[in-house]
Amino acid sequence: MRIAVIDRDRCQPKKCSMECIKYCPRMRGGIKVIEISEDDHKPVISEELCVGCGICVHKCPFHAIHIENLAEELQKDIVHQYGVNGFRLFRLPLPRKHKVVGLLGENGIGKTTALNILSGKLKPNLGHMDHEPSWDDIIDEWSGTEAAEFFKTVADGRLTVSYKPQYIDRLSHHKGTVQDFVEEMGVKGEGLEALMGRKMSEISGGELQQLAITIATEREADIYFFDEPSSYLDIKNRLEMSKKVRELARDRMVVVVEHDLAVLDSLADIVHILYGKKGVYGVVAGAKGVRHGINLYLSGYLKEENVRFSEEITFEKHPPREIREKETLISFEGLRKTLDGFELVVESGEIAKGDVIGILGPNGIGKTTFVRMLAGIIEPTEGSIDTEVKVSYKPQYLTAEDKMVSLLFSENKRHFHPLYEKEILLPLGIADLFDKNLTSLSGGELQTVAIAFCLSFDADVYLIDEPSAYLDAKQRMKVAKVIKRIMEKEAKAALVVEHDVYFIDMVSQSLMVFSGEPGKRGLARGPFSLRQGMNEFLRDINITFRRDEESHRPRVNKVGSTLDREQKAIGEYYYEL
Ligand code: SF4
Ligand code: SF4
Repeated sequence: MRIAVIDRDRCQPKKCSMECIKYCPRMRGGIKVIEISEDDHKPVISEELCVGCGICVHKCPFHAIHIENLAEELQKDIVHQYGVNGFRLFRLPLPRKHKVVGLLGENGIGKTTALNILSGKLKPNLGHMDHEPSWDDIIDEWSGTEAAEFFKTVADGRLTVSYKPQYIDRLSHHKGTVQDFVEEMGVKGEGLEALMGRKMSEISGGELQQLAITIATEREADIYFFDEPSSYLDIKNRLEMSKKVRELARDRMVVVVEHDLAVLDSLADIVHILYGKKGVYGVVAGAKGVRHGINLYLSGYLKEENVRFSEEITFEKHPPREIREKETLISFEGLRKTLDGFELVVESGEIAKGDVIGILGPNGIGKTTFVRMLAGIIEPTEGSIDTEVKVSYKPQYLTAEDKMVSLLFSENKRHFHPLYEKEILLPLGIADLFDKNLTSLSGGELQTVAIAFCLSFDADVYLIDEPSAYLDAKQRMKVAKVIKRIMEKEAKAALVVEHDVYFIDMVSQSLMVFSGEPGKRGLARGPFSLRQGMNEFLRDINITFRRDEESHRPRVNKVGSTLDREQKAIGEYYYEL
């Protein structure tokens, strides 16, 4: 089957010469493949008459058209289509009682559509553009399957739903305290006692996330949806969240979208991989056991469906060997800083040129204070730094100003290093976002722009705070590659604060470990080798990882399991020796 999708936001007939119509060979031959819609005066392509030559795709100056040839059998599996020439979702995941069902896939290929349909927010149209199908039609479509039973409960309003939204930052716009908000939501807010008196606008992203998860879990419902529950949480909180969510599944249905694969691994029982093309179409693959599903996702190939959807991602079982001596970029000795009742002690260390240092530790432990000292923005109370460095910073929480993406980059061009276009904008696909306003970007797009912007500056040290938030697993891998490559080529250093273990594994060459009591005192140690750093950090939080036999990816051990005890006894928390 062939689908033609037009991105109606990108299509700008007033600014082009209607190249799609002008160059279409069918149109030139007098066949009306493309017509102009009376509603928005933009083109509509007839999928029946189009021969799929792809000329319009290449000729459109705004890259608004996509023509895709899909497997014929998908035709009968269309679940929802957003208008003529709109995005299409094929097949659906099925929620199951006693199971946590995970959805795994790129952003923009239908996860939110699937969640909206399953939660009853969106009635699926089964691809019918001319008439809206009735609930009977929808139930008939899945007749004889568990999905039909599920949709019966949606149709007659029996299904009660609790939903943890993806963008929790928006909760901070609420006036009043956490206590007011919790009362307004009609829940108790157990475990949030310490936050109750604080204003909603003043609590951190991690605290907002915990609040949103608590509200969603305390609500009485038949089915629970958690859209990216781990953003802004540190590793310990991620694993606690995962336990809490799993408990819900004892007698209810739970569906989760999660891009931190180590967390998804400990959270879900089964996963559905989604593949397709961003903004064009998405296909939900059949349910797989969580271990096998994540391995398949990393392999980039769905054997049963015979679909290659991305490059393979691999992990090393053993710690990497240090191959060469690196030149020192900056060294620091016995730093101590006291600030507003908080004390940070940094053990002596040095940062090498070309190094990417993963920074591990909970929120509020002094990571930003450390970098501000390196940048000379604040003076250490004690100790010394041998040289002052220029720092480029990507903050943890992003706000979008009312500005075009292209303008953001063009007006700062004079501060950028020469490699920024080739090594940063190109691989991160920033040019595709140039004609969008920052305020209209999705969370993942805004994050990618912020990372690219930070890395483009000509600086000595790049501090990138939680780059993975709102990025899907594949985007995370892409960002990790770009950071590594640019540091190596420019002989600069990056400090990457991150809580996603897979991302840290992929991006870091060494690790700094922050420990202590958030908001009160912090101790920074390192940089260490990956092996030592992981051991130091995981010992602090009492977690061990084993290696998956097939993909070699790290998997969290159950605390107290045989492997957990054995690894702790020999002090190997992460790598196999
Ligand atoms: S699809 Fe492209 S070429 Fe056609 S009208 Fe829109 S912007 Fe112009
Ligand atoms: S793919 Fe070819 S036939 Fe189809 S609308 Fe585009 S130019 Fe015309």
